[in-house]
Amino acid sequence: MSALKTIGIVGAGQMGCGIAHVSAAAGYKVHIYDLSQDRIESGLATINGNLAKQVTNGKMTEEERKTALSLITGSANLNDLAPSDLVIEAATEEEAVKRKIYAQVCPVLKPEALLATNTSSLSITRLASATDRPEHFMGIHFMNPVPVMKLVELVRGIATDEKTFSTAKAFVASLEKTVTVAEDFPAFIVNRILLPMINEAIYTLYEGVGTVDAIDTAMKLGANHPMGPLQLADFIGLDTCLSIMQVLHDGLADSKYRPCPLLVKYVEAGWLGRKSGRGFYDYRGEVPVPTR
Ligand code: NAD
Repeated sequence: MSALKTIGIVGAGQMGCGIAHVSAAAGYKVHIYDLSQDRIESGLATINGNLAKQVTNGKMTEEERKTALSLITGSANLNDLAPSDLVIEAATEEEAVKRKIYAQVCPVLKPEALLATNTSSLSITRLASATDRPEHFMGIHFMNPVPVMKLVELVRGIATDEKTFSTAKAFVASLEKTVTVAEDFPAFIVNRILLPMINEAIYTLYEGVGTVDAIDTAMKLGANHPMGPLQLADFIGLDTCLSIMQVLHDGLADSKYRPCPLLVKYVEAGWLGRKSGRGFYDYRGEVPVPTR
């Protein structure tokens, strides 16, 4: 365990639930906040299901599952984040949304509490400027699915102090994950490399070079990727993929990062991938069916 005891999480989506899961499994008290009680309930149900899966897979005992679950609470009341030693914001990848959250959350927190963002791409320095504690703010970027993926990128903003960084590092180590340190440039390391590859796969589909199945099979068997790029895009969430490409395009001002129009179209249709039931695959039946 690190010096932290209570972890607050903003956003009960795929990432917030994953971070809550691994934090509770490591013995931290966790409180999740989201906009509605419905989202909290569905998040807690997801965590419950994922913890149960780990028992089935022999990764944790039934006793450990029960203990982890008992450490997690959730509510749609922001004030319940007040006891947190560290709040990790894992809300929708939109700068305006995150800024609004910091404006509401900061006044509720203890002055010494740390605030971190799980953003995949946005500037940590710019987000920090929307808080009352830039020196206590940084990026702690978990990978999806959090209980499975070993890596966490740590990103300092210009003002992040050493104690904040070392506390975050100890926290990540206590979750038995490996840290990699990235500088504060658009999309950091993993997504700077991964998202242009996914965007290129979508262009390959858009230009008719191959079908969804052909592209994913090609990359799985031809490049030894465990998942095809379109399957991975659906898994990440197409809205998140588009936001990251927009951040790369705006932040690096290079046309090689322009988001594929087909990605834009899918997001406009509300076809966001697994989380909405349809993306490059349709997940509403027994097995995923390519949508192109
Ligand atoms: P998601 O769409 O599954 O969940 C986002 C959650 O944020 C939703 O439950 C939504 O209700 C909540 N939210 C939105 N506005 C809010 C507000 N004002 N207050 C409280 N909650 C609010 O998204 P996700 O995939 O969990 O992504 C969350 C963050 O994690 C993003 O910054 C994303 O870039 C980052 N991330 C995503 C992945 C991935 O693979 N999906 C990987 C690493 C990091």
